[in-house]
Amino acid sequence: MKIDVLTIFPDFFKDFKNTSINKRAIEKGCLEFNTIDIRDFTSDKHRRIDDRPVGGGNGLIMKVEPIVKAIRSVKKDNSKVIYMSPRGNKLDQQKVRSLSLEDHLIILCGHYEGVDERVLDYVDEQISIGDYILSGGEVAATVVSDAVIRLLDGAIKEESHLDESFENGLLEYPQFTIPKTFENKEIPEILYSGNHQAINKWRKKESLRITLKHRKDLFDKYTLTKEDRELIEEIKEGKIGMWEKKAIANNSLNDKGSS
Ligand code: SAH
Repeated sequence: MKIDVLTIFPDFFKDFKNTSINKRAIEKGCLEFNTIDIRDFTSDKHRRIDDRPVGGGNGLIMKVEPIVKAIRSVKKDNSKVIYMSPRGNKLDQQKVRSLSLEDHLIILCGHYEGVDERVLDYVDEQISIGDYILSGGEVAATVVSDAVIRLLDGAIKEESHLDESFENGLLEYPQFTIPKTFENKEIPEILYSGNHQAINKWRKKESLRITLKHRKDLFDKYTLTKEDRELIEEIKEGKIGMWEKKAIANNSLNDKGSS
């Protein structure tokens, strides 16, 4: 995939390109990431990219000509032009997935009070990262790019995102790593059982518990299986399932057997 970001602050993206998964994706050749300075497409000697709103009012508006020239400098038949905008479709994991299938994203970052409305005729989609106002589209462009890049083939292991929050309609289950005990806080015993079926069931139960607690809206949209309903009963009654007790007990028997 190729991502071209159109911005008046190209330096903003230097660290972004050189960090972690993004850097690796570029090195592996699954990503080309460029910044295009909109100021390079001005034609006056002051390289002016903004001006006062016609009709009066506050702030400055980004001018139409340099932006359209910048878009044209990179646009191909297979490009999708996105304008980061509070007016846009709200970004979610489903949108991120569909963007990750594109060949070429051109991401336009606004600044000041936004862009001349006529720019929108050259844009395929407006995307918002949430209901708040940022001072510029750069932060929003890194949010979209980061979420998309980690889904590209080869950026991270495919299995890493299968269980993640939002991917299957639920939030992710809790994860732990050593030490086993930290300030009297223990890692749940079931995770040491070696019984992968029981571990997966426990993880599903915790996903359901967390989604129910934190995101009732997601939970209500989720279609429960018969097993899910049993797990929900356990959650509501505050019960540890027989399957969990058995998996833990079998493991301690095995431990004794091998020692
Ligand atoms: N006056 C505009 C806001 C401009 S904010 C309004 O009231 O709608 C300046 C720039 O920041 C915008 O052009 C856009 O590119 C970016 N921006 C601000 N908030 C954003 C958000 N929630 N999502 C995506 N981009 C945003």
